[in-house]
Amino acid sequence: MNLVSDSALKILQKYYGYRSFRSSQEDIINNILNKNDTLAIMPTGGGKSICYQVPALLFDGITLVISPLISLMKDQVDSIKNLGIGADYINSSLNQHEILSIISRLKENSIKILYIAPERLESIEFCNIIKNISISQVAVDEAHCVSQWGHDFRSSYRYIWKFINILDTRPVVTAFTATATEEVRKDIIDQIKLKSPKVFISGFDRENLKINCLKIGDRFSYLLNYINENIQQEGIIYASTRREVDNIYDKLYRNNISVTRYHAGLSDNERKKNQEDFVYDRVNVIVATNAFGMGIDKSNVRYVIHYNMPRNIESYYQEIGRAGRDGEASECILMFSPQDIITQKYLIENSIQSENRKLNEYKKLQQMVDFVHYNGCLRKYILNYFGEEVKYEECGNCSNCITEGEYVDKTIDAQKVLSCVYRMKKDFGVNMIVDVLRGSTQKKVMYNRFNLLSTYGIMKEYSKQDLSNFINTLIAHGYISLKEGEYPTVILNEESVKILKGIDKVILKERFKAKKISVNNKLFEALRVLRMNMAREESVPPYLIFSDSTLKELSSRYPCTEEQMLDISGVGELKLKKYGSGFLDEIRNYVKENNIDVKWNFKKENRDNSSHENNINRKLKTYEITMNMVKENMGIGEIAKKRQLTISTILNHLTKYLEEDNKENFNINFNDVFTEKEENQIISIIKKVGCERLHPIKELLPEDIGYDKIKAVIIKNYAL
Ligand code: ADP
Ligand code: MG
Ligand code: ZN
Repeated sequence: MNLVSDSALKILQKYYGYRSFRSSQEDIINNILNKNDTLAIMPTGGGKSICYQVPALLFDGITLVISPLISLMKDQVDSIKNLGIGADYINSSLNQHEILSIISRLKENSIKILYIAPERLESIEFCNIIKNISISQVAVDEAHCVSQWGHDFRSSYRYIWKFINILDTRPVVTAFTATATEEVRKDIIDQIKLKSPKVFISGFDRENLKINCLKIGDRFSYLLNYINENIQQEGIIYASTRREVDNIYDKLYRNNISVTRYHAGLSDNERKKNQEDFVYDRVNVIVATNAFGMGIDKSNVRYVIHYNMPRNIESYYQEIGRAGRDGEASECILMFSPQDIITQKYLIENSIQSENRKLNEYKKLQQMVDFVHYNGCLRKYILNYFGEEVKYEECGNCSNCITEGEYVDKTIDAQKVLSCVYRMKKDFGVNMIVDVLRGSTQKKVMYNRFNLLSTYGIMKEYSKQDLSNFINTLIAHGYISLKEGEYPTVILNEESVKILKGIDKVILKERFKAKKISVNNKLFEALRVLRMNMAREESVPPYLIFSDSTLKELSSRYPCTEEQMLDISGVGELKLKKYGSGFLDEIRNYVKENNIDVKWNFKKENRDNSSHENNINRKLKTYEITMNMVKENMGIGEIAKKRQLTISTILNHLTKYLEEDNKENFNINFNDVFTEKEENQIISIIKKVGCERLHPIKELLPEDIGYDKIKAVIIKNYAL
């Protein structure tokens, strides 16, 4: 048995209520527990926090977490406090008095995890106080912020190594990021001065995310339709400029969508409020620029829609990673329009960065464009981009792998459009082409004598909107190109020529229909309402009470007792205590009303069947419960009394524990089992007859010294 991972697993179950570690978490945690510096690269939503939090709880001293955003620290700390973990944060939102009270709790060891922003390390006062507290781990979250190459560069991240240097004992230093590029990785190691760190790069696949890339002309109506289909769900819409965000926001708002927005053009207060409205489920949808999202751990985001193509695969993957952190099926939709390329180029060109970096950005943009036009598995493309080898050809969960939807041959309509563009000679925008094809009598059409073209009015059967969508779809697929300029115009390209000559065909997938991401049962909806009410009462985000995946499990397995409830993933001891009864009542009622026959099978490990245990401790093996009490220095007699077991049983637990080859150092409190005098008496007899068998020892001792005392003395003096 691996002691390290075993105690880590206990922490995971007790506090977080999860059944097991995700594959990479265990290795990372073991490495940290062995006091080795660690750099862990895991995708957004991959579960980085647990990697430093679990060791934090197993270490003697405190763990200092450096986290970039003051505005989000409260949510993060609230969320682990709600698991029963001693945590707090120090930042500029606190006054001197509050800070002092936290410091004193740190000294009492009642805070195990302290979150700070890197700027705090620039305060000499703070450093002087904190360096007198035993720090076991410094964990740097969002560590790419240390790198010039990262997109969220923060100069104060560079104080970290100086701070670590002033500490008397060097703590283990750990760093976490979702940014996978070589240059960022190198920078993190250099800038934080990690000491021969072990680097973990975990699989980047997020299987629960369905990846869709759509090339459709009418983005907004698709968007609106999609949101309405999934009206109960929470989603993020990313757009590339503030103006676009405002625009989409206004239109959604006018269509009665529960929506808010986020971009750098809003005041601090408004941004803060809007973000909170979304995190607390007070609105369902947030429209935002890429300024939104870092550090937001809201786990019930069911979809992320890119209204525009992002600037590179890193940003794209980080942004879609914000969907489905709870592991439930979630959807990512990228709505591509060639206009997006022009916007991104404009943004790069006008950014303040060196020519060298711009060049790098252009290269990355091109890889993003390649992604959009890629015909194979989109997931595979992304994973390969991050240097991950993929064994499959098709993931079955991206819009290129999913075969639903019929293909239609649109070659003839496409030829009509292309030949019209050809005949118009000069470059015009989409709207003008639409007008000509539909036979408009507008001034500009007549002035250019387009009414004389053979293509004039040959697509009258299309509505204005539909035809413009069709042309945009052709552009998105690369059958025609957009020429950059103040007003982008439509021009023919090599592909257009092939279509016109009949060499290539235009086969388009029939429009991808907006569908529900998932269908929830009635109990789920009832539990969601309950969660919302509890969250309002406590002023916490609903996902922080239970995640969607926990609700889902509750509403499909119907736990009816506390013991069963603890078996649900995401239900730890404290949460059971805080929220258990409300949820159990709701479930019991539902089960009764619907005559559901619940057959229960436990899933969490470490289950023990003795019926004396109280429910909360059920998931630990009985001897482990004893050992936890032993480690808290409770007397053996007292433990026996508390657990309603005999001293002999408790001693058997100790023996079993020791047999498992646990070589941990701790004192066992035998004071309430034997006196010092009795101990000496027993030892003197053992010296004569040995301790292989108890009976001969007992024979030579006074009547009132029973087997328990003898066993206990043996354990203390010969087994430990
Ligand atoms: P990251 O920081 O890597 O983006 P988080 O640490 O916020 O991701 O974790 C994402 C989600 O996954 C959280 O809701 C977290 O509780 C959950 N999670 C992490 N580890 C596990 C696990 N072993 N089992 C179940 N859920 C987990
Ligand atoms: Mg995180
Ligand atoms: Zn695929």
